[in-house]
Amino acid sequence: MLRWNNPLLSKRISALLAAIMLLVLASACGSSQATEPPSGNRLAVVTTTALLADLARNVGGELVQVTALVPPGADVHSFQSTPGDSVAISLADLMVSNGGDLDRFLDPLIQGSLSDDAVRVVAARPLLAAGNTDPHFWQNPEFTVTYVEEIRDGLINADPGNAATYQANFDTYKDRLIKLDFDIASTIGRVGQARRRLITFHDAFGHFASRYGWKVTAFVASDGGEVSPGRVVEILEEVREQGIPAVFAEPQFRSDVLDNAAQEAGVEVGSIYSDALDDDVTSYIDMMLFNAKNLARLLR
Ligand SMILES: [Zn+2]
Repeated sequence: MLRWNNPLLSKRISALLAAIMLLVLASACGSSQATEPPSGNRLAVVTTTALLADLARNVGGELVQVTALVPPGADVHSFQSTPGDSVAISLADLMVSNGGDLDRFLDPLIQGSLSDDAVRVVAARPLLAAGNTDPHFWQNPEFTVTYVEEIRDGLINADPGNAATYQANFDTYKDRLIKLDFDIASTIGRVGQARRRLITFHDAFGHFASRYGWKVTAFVASDGGEVSPGRVVEILEEVREQGIPAVFAEPQFRSDVLDNAAQEAGVEVGSIYSDALDDDVTSYIDMMLFNAKNLARLLR
């Protein structure tokens, strides 16, 4: 007879449940971000998004094994965690989230699952502390440098013996981010001043706009949400009046409302990446260059 107050039995059931959850996790990992072979020597890093996972891999290099909770191509704002996510977090040596209205809703899950001796990094913490509420800071590569500084400090905190390697990886990646910033500016610099209008689905490009002198308009707020057909028609009317040739849809938010309204208005719908990487665009730097090239191609 099953008696839940039998301590030995409930201990065995707990162990069985934990094993099942590990199996679920293992099969989930097989198809998602954790493509590296498991290694007992590597530092286990868990991030909320694939974008943060890419940053962590660049600073951690060969010393880390990184797993992202949100699967490739999925929307972080509406992410729903599974029991496998709790297991992944509980095994982490370092947990990295963005912070703010991007993934703050996962804090209770993280706090409830993370082990006491793990290190916790909220990558946007210094930027959020400055009072800015739009959590999509990485759209400005200068702010991404702050993210990787926080990740570097977290890695050194979790694994002080390899501090010099993390610092060296950070220095190399920071140079690439500075070059990225320059490459974006020169690519989209080909777009005339009047056409520096980025019209997107959700409001994720404010930091991009202030960095490169663009104006952005979005159909829905920065925390995602439902699109109103009235708002789409209103914005597309404005787009047509101003002679802007394209608006930009994000792969994780494909919207029939937007596609249909754009077709009616004779406006092209380009593609732009905001929060989510996918199988086509797998790194932060590739994502930013993809966006810059698409903007330059469709708007100039
Ligand atoms: Zn977003």
